[in-house]
Amino acid sequence: MCGIVGYIGQKEANGILIDGLKRMEYRGYDSAGIAVLDKGSIFSLKRVGKVMELAKAQTKFHHHGPIGIGHTRWATHGNVSERNAHPHLSDGNRFAVVHNGIIENYLQIKAFLTEKNYRFTSDTDTETLANLIDYHYQKAPYLSFAEIVRKTLLHIEGTYGIAVMSKIFADEIVVARKSSPLLIGVGEGENIIASDAAAVARYTRCVVYLNDGEIASVRSDNFSITTLHENAVDVIRHELDWEIRDMDLEGYPHYMLKEIVEQPFVIENAMRGRFTADGCSAKFGGISLTPQELRTVDRLLFCACGSAYHACLAGKYLIEKYARIPVDVEYASEFRYRNAPLQRNTLVFVVSQSGETIDTLAALHEAKRRGYTVLGITNVVGSTIARATDAGIYQHAGLEMGVASTKAFASQITILSMLALLLARIHDMDAIAGLQYVQALKSLPAITNEILKLSDPIRMIAEKYYECERFLFLGRQAMYPIALEGALKLKEIAYVHAEAFPTAEMKHGPIALISDETVCLFIATQNELLDKTMNNIQEVKARGGKVIAIVNNDCIAWEVFCDEVLTIPEVHPGINPIVSVIPLQFFAYYIGILRGCDVDRPRNLAKSVTVE
Ligand code: GLU
Repeated sequence: MCGIVGYIGQKEANGILIDGLKRMEYRGYDSAGIAVLDKGSIFSLKRVGKVMELAKAQTKFHHHGPIGIGHTRWATHGNVSERNAHPHLSDGNRFAVVHNGIIENYLQIKAFLTEKNYRFTSDTDTETLANLIDYHYQKAPYLSFAEIVRKTLLHIEGTYGIAVMSKIFADEIVVARKSSPLLIGVGEGENIIASDAAAVARYTRCVVYLNDGEIASVRSDNFSITTLHENAVDVIRHELDWEIRDMDLEGYPHYMLKEIVEQPFVIENAMRGRFTADGCSAKFGGISLTPQELRTVDRLLFCACGSAYHACLAGKYLIEKYARIPVDVEYASEFRYRNAPLQRNTLVFVVSQSGETIDTLAALHEAKRRGYTVLGITNVVGSTIARATDAGIYQHAGLEMGVASTKAFASQITILSMLALLLARIHDMDAIAGLQYVQALKSLPAITNEILKLSDPIRMIAEKYYECERFLFLGRQAMYPIALEGALKLKEIAYVHAEAFPTAEMKHGPIALISDETVCLFIATQNELLDKTMNNIQEVKARGGKVIAIVNNDCIAWEVFCDEVLTIPEVHPGINPIVSVIPLQFFAYYIGILRGCDVDRPRNLAKSVTVE
């Protein structure tokens, strides 16, 4: 959500700021702005809407300088307008601030500052921060820039990632964070600060992530980080592990399509170097637990949100089936508040593509507070969740630009399937079964490549049904989470009402929704229960519903009873959820396109949800 960028160096900041904001467009926002220091004064430019509007306006903006800050806003306080867009300048224009998050005590601060004759020109919470910084400067002008910001932040309740520039301290940007990501991209004679590595990757591969409660003073050739309480900080430099080309469309019309097509490669990356030498099990360098320690685990708990939650639910089916360890899956947003009773030897996993999802981070802190070991599965090296967990597994899926997750979801289930194998082999899966499981996993890139060839047939089905307003996704066992994911994709991308149920649940309620205007999408690749699924399909047909079935055998009955049939390869059950989701991703993509939706930036959604 929302983005921060800042530049300090020898080059002109404007272009770098706008480029950085464009790189973060995928996160979702409503307005954008920049501020630069030119001949000792701060000048700002803001526009409502896309960064393109700001870029256009910038051609007529005649202020330039080698230091500046920029922002894409996702409004929380005050409507979407130019005057509420960031950067916000303090009264008197000494300081400019960009901010992600919410200042919870802003009304008290505003009242206090109004009493001191500070004028406000926006309705945002952020502007109080700019004026409070100025207030602390006026009170003690002899303090350093970082000291002034530090003193200010000690009075702030809420969450923030901020970047502050000043005409008084003209060779420095101060940044700080609390529950909102911020990093420093370390360059040669220049530094770029940002809330997302996508904004700095073009200029440097070396990044330093700030932790909560840290503040940094950034100059063109150095930076220093301390905690808000003035304690020293160990600076850890991370190397970005994704490619610049992840940020480009490379000829595809949309990131979503590009990322669906990348899945064979992404799945391969998730598995690379993660099989044991005997070829019968999986291993994860990032999991610091020995086989002895893993054996003592009686229960697993996964906390996640959105698509990651569905990946975990698929993982539950696989782990319980193969490793026979009970697994709970919780929405992170619920777990953090509900004081769930946990068994003593529970191992907790938090799963988040971005590694910044605030609800998942809070669940992580809650589990750690209670003394549990927490492991992470995340795609972003050095992200907040990656740093806060005891250990974890990186997805190596590359930067995911589409707001609705596709390739990151596939890589999460791949990793969870491998975890099922690892735990099963520690418990009671024999070597032959392990070998077959490994072979199935290794075949995934080739099989998913085959499934990509269904793109055209799926588009043709989408063309028939894209005007329908009601979809039910139905699947059994490990295909139920895949049904959930398929329905979520359709909601996110095409704004169509879609729900998902375990197939047999249909008759316990949802069947009331069936009419000739209802499309039921059956994921019938769970071979054990196909006869039952066939009955459910007949029940839908008897009530006039339309049936699309994804199947993996050529049984004649499919053609007889279903309106549309998509056949995908029959695979080992351990990888079935991974291959079954791809047709649903295509389906949502094409329905979204046919309905004229912006599939890469669906309305109201943001890529990494950093507000509660
Ligand atoms: N609360 C601030 C505002 O509404 C910042 C929102 C954001 O994170 O973009 O302007």
